Amino acid sequence: MDDKDIDKLERRCPRLGSKISFRYCLISGEDDNPCWKIFDCWWEYFDVASYLKSHLPAEVFEQLAKKAAAQPKDKLSSIVEIAEQAKKNKE
Ligand code: SF4
Repeated sequence: MDDKDIDKLERRCPRLGSKISFRYCLISGEDDNPCWKIFDCWWEYFDVASYLKSHLPAEVFEQLAKKAAAQPKDKLSSIVEIAEQAKKNKE
């Protein structure tokens, strides 16, 4: 998916309860940085981690990843991690 298509993506925001664009998520965190839930909210739509890593300054990406990792994991994230770990162990 190219950047133009990513810019047009929309989903229901679990925090606001309304439909928002990915562009909004990129600036809705502290100091106009991305929202800390951006990995959780967008991983099913495209490779959001790679996108952020290539578009954000390294320092901003690292802070965002740390903040996201420090949050309690929701059930889906835990299931995905377990599934990925199981897949790695199988290989
Ligand atoms: S990343 Fe943040 S602003 Fe965007 S949909 Fe998720 S909770 Fe809402």
